[in-house]
Amino acid sequence: SPLVTLQGITKVFANGVTALEGFDLGIRTGEFVSLLGPSGCGKSTVLRLIAGLDAPTSGAVTWPGSADADHRSEIGFVFQEPTLMPWADVADNVWLPLRLRGVSKRDAQERITESLALVGLSDFARAYPRELSGGMKMRVSIARALSLKPRLLLMDEPFAALDEITRFRLNDDLLRLQRELACTIVFVTHSVYESAYLSSRIAVMSPRPGRVVATVAGEAPGP
Ligand code: ADP
Ligand code: ADP
Repeated sequence: SPLVTLQGITKVFANGVTALEGFDLGIRTGEFVSLLGPSGCGKSTVLRLIAGLDAPTSGAVTWPGSADADHRSEIGFVFQEPTLMPWADVADNVWLPLRLRGVSKRDAQERITESLALVGLSDFARAYPRELSGGMKMRVSIARALSLKPRLLLMDEPFAALDEITRFRLNDDLLRLQRELACTIVFVTHSVYESAYLSSRIAVMSPRPGRVVATVAGEAPGP
């Protein structure tokens, strides 16, 4: 069933740059969709529109199965940089967004434990970001997003800054997580390998202005 649909999207920024024009994409529940395309084709803009962090100039982002107008609480966002707070340990980094959403301390504790276990970092709850490798920091970011129990996980080139071995490991971790959690993922990358390996469907984008030029099946099984 459709989870979120982007239809006839145009996005023109204040500086006159048309980032997207005639952009159409439907995302079904349980899918792992990659947005694949060169730098500047509008991939991050698409994620921001889905997340409601920005609005389209024209066209619509709709959530067919849901009456709730504000979908931000259903979305987890993982950025390219891990963006951890250096003064807080791993558990507190995961805790802060839960606190901001008013999750009780007890419930939060459970979610922190659960999500750190999912990414294999149970033993590092009291470690500080500076003590972790790049891959581990990215795993903390993923745990932080997962602890919000999102229906939809948006990931913006999350592994771009990592070495290849770490990246391959995290790719496998992510596939396992998606199977376990059965969540929907939209994953931005400019790596053909990564998109093919991870996703059930690949939306190939072309730039100037950004739009979907083809949708092809990935290697991962669909929902
Ligand atoms: P990608 O994620 O594929 O690299 P982006 O979505 O970041 O592409 O950007 C698409 C285009 O829109 C680029 O030309 C970029 O320079 C431009 N752009 C992105 N954000 C803004 C902004 N806030 N203001 C002006 N131009 C922007
Ligand atoms: P090859 O067919 O080149 O001998 P493999 O069968 O190991 O190599 O992998 C097929 C493709 O999938 C290769 O392009 C490889 O880079 C990619 N690949 C393999 N494992 C992973 C992984 N964990 N994450 C991302 N890509 C991978």
